[in-house]
Amino acid sequence: MVQGVGFRPFIYTLAVRYGLCGWVRNTSAGVEIEVEGASEALDAFVRAIRAEAPPLSRIEAVTVQEIPANGHTRFEIQHSQAVEGAYQPISPDVATCDDCLAEVFDPANRRYRYAFTNCTNCGPRFTIIQDIPYDRPKTTMAAFTMCSQCQREYDDPLDRRFHAQPNACPECGPHLELLPSPALGTPVGWDDLPSDPIAAARALLRTGHIVAIKGLGGFHLACDATNARAVQTLRARKGRAAKPFAVMMPDLQAVRSVCQVSTEAAAALQGAECPIVLLPLRPGGPIAAEVAPGLRELGVMLPYTPLHHLLLERAPDFPIALVMTSGNYSEEPIATDNDDALQRLGPLADAFLLHNRAIHIRCDDSVVRADANGVMPLRRSRGYAPYPIPLPFDAPPLLATGAELKNTFCLARDQYAFMSQHIGDLSNYEALRSYEHSIAHLERLFRVQPEVVAHDMHPDYLATRYALRRSERRLAVQHHHAHLASCLAEHKIPPGQPAIGVIFDGTGLGPDGAIWGGEILVGDYGQYRRFAHLRYVPLLGGDAATLRPYRMALAHLWSAGLPWDDDLPPVQAAAAQERTILRQQLERRLNAPPTSSMGRLFDAVAALVGVLQEVTYEAQAAIWLEARADTDERGAYPFAIERGEKGVYRIDPAPLFAALVRDLRAGVPVPVLAARFHRGVAQVIREVCALARAETGLTTVALSGGVFQNSTLSRITRQGLEHDGFTVLTHRLVPPNDGGLALGQAAVAAYAIRYG
Ligand code: ZN
Ligand code: ZN
Ligand code: FE
Repeated sequence: MVQGVGFRPFIYTLAVRYGLCGWVRNTSAGVEIEVEGASEALDAFVRAIRAEAPPLSRIEAVTVQEIPANGHTRFEIQHSQAVEGAYQPISPDVATCDDCLAEVFDPANRRYRYAFTNCTNCGPRFTIIQDIPYDRPKTTMAAFTMCSQCQREYDDPLDRRFHAQPNACPECGPHLELLPSPALGTPVGWDDLPSDPIAAARALLRTGHIVAIKGLGGFHLACDATNARAVQTLRARKGRAAKPFAVMMPDLQAVRSVCQVSTEAAAALQGAECPIVLLPLRPGGPIAAEVAPGLRELGVMLPYTPLHHLLLERAPDFPIALVMTSGNYSEEPIATDNDDALQRLGPLADAFLLHNRAIHIRCDDSVVRADANGVMPLRRSRGYAPYPIPLPFDAPPLLATGAELKNTFCLARDQYAFMSQHIGDLSNYEALRSYEHSIAHLERLFRVQPEVVAHDMHPDYLATRYALRRSERRLAVQHHHAHLASCLAEHKIPPGQPAIGVIFDGTGLGPDGAIWGGEILVGDYGQYRRFAHLRYVPLLGGDAATLRPYRMALAHLWSAGLPWDDDLPPVQAAAAQERTILRQQLERRLNAPPTSSMGRLFDAVAALVGVLQEVTYEAQAAIWLEARADTDERGAYPFAIERGEKGVYRIDPAPLFAALVRDLRAGVPVPVLAARFHRGVAQVIREVCALARAETGLTTVALSGGVFQNSTLSRITRQGLEHDGFTVLTHRLVPPNDGGLALGQAAVAAYAIRYG
């Protein structure tokens, strides 16, 4: 990636430094340079290309070829011609760089306190690009004509704003404005607010108001994260009972005062992607408990636009953290358009901090966790998308439509997989519209005309129905096979090298019609075989069971042959009449499809130990259970492993439930119960992987599926498997959850076309 990142000016500067003549120009494949001069100078020049490359560039290869001297007398930057149909890299949005930040806070600078300051090394990209080639007229900055000073910077190869397409200043660029909510009425004291929109927004935030803030890829809803009342109001208005909110804090020092920040986490927080990083909370800090109820972790990000830096600027009477949550109602796509935001978010926010630079494509904040092994994305969106994932083999042009929840889709061509930004849950009309719009937009941006459309096997996913409406050749990919392929593809495992895949998630349709989710597979891109799975239990009431973990606990107790005794929390959670109906459902197998879901096993255990009986967001029970687990505990509950039909192993949790009920009655504390469960799951993974290695000789294990967002389970599992001599692959580029599924679908489809 050498375009739109200041690469040609960088080459120009190098050529001048080494006294070389010639030219540089963009090509469809990257950048081409012709230089002539003394041979030592040429060598030094070539070395410096890699050593000093601009921060946002990424160099895959430097190829040098000798040609006769052409007698150039100076060095020039040649203008690029777009090659129709060629792939042109598009940069993700980039957090404000230190140079720009220094200008924003320098009273002598003409961009002093200007919220839209940017340069070649930072600023909006993906969210403002309407078409390629990336040039100002094809961005939403086309509406602003540069003033003479900005134009001079833009035209000067030695200026750090040379060809910075979003270049702007207070003279000529976008501006802020603060409006009261059209739905809630004007806040008291409005007329006394400062005239500067940022100062006024800060005054409102300080006094407990909720402000909708237009950012880079959409709107945030902001409030004082240390004010319990404000956070409660935001929850009530947004219809979000308990799902954690992310916060933004002014700087790393502030973050350290509230959370434990490892070296890896600090690097992630300060990276150009500027994601939300999940960090262990220090006890007793100033953040209101309502921000992340029931959790020991907090999602934190640093400011990534000048607007955020100004908004969060430290002051004795200003909160150290603002809740910054997506500007939407639960599950709807994030708002991007001013009018749309005023209308849809009117009932949610007391005021709107707007600007007049249009957002062409929405892009939510990314979420990652950082550990000793690096970064694991949980949501790959702003700052990462649409930077391509390199594939281990060439793909024909294709589209993979992704899953139902946490949807992303994937377009692939040649050696690239373009994972879309986070689309979200495809459960409503707005999300589906955003999905279809984004597919069309990315197909055009990357010039991908799919020959094949890959989709999940589940016929009712909206992403599957969308695929079925398209006219191209289609290919159904089993959900857990896609998870496995996703993990293999991001690690560039070549075709024909199978691995053991431990794929644990909430739900995915199996070819036998059951709901899979506790799968140990053996396979590669071309094929897979089910080596082992969690024993089937009835999913009481189908999908409704996911909202009621106590039902999963009752189903597991029933399957384990354990009585529904009145002292057990999930038994108490179900009324006597409901229990009678559930028992009938179990005995007659009515509305109780079989499931091997590992996510639901976590739910069942969370309910059984009394952590949570009903949930308001996906995986809440499992997340709360993990948050309670005692990290010093060394015990582990047993599973039984039996060889079933066709040699497929069944992992039976019955012994685990028997031990758990015994411990519960003996008064063993919940953190110990939770830890023993996590360690039991990790232990059975080791045992089954050992069986798989004995049978197949394979020594590589891929861990994928949403359950591996659980860092306790991931860590213990990895340690155990590595101790046993396995090579362990975990996700580093795409999420282990369904947000990474489309990459696997794409890899499976590409393999089927290329080698099938
Ligand atoms: Zn900059
Ligand atoms: Zn200007
Ligand atoms: Fe999944």
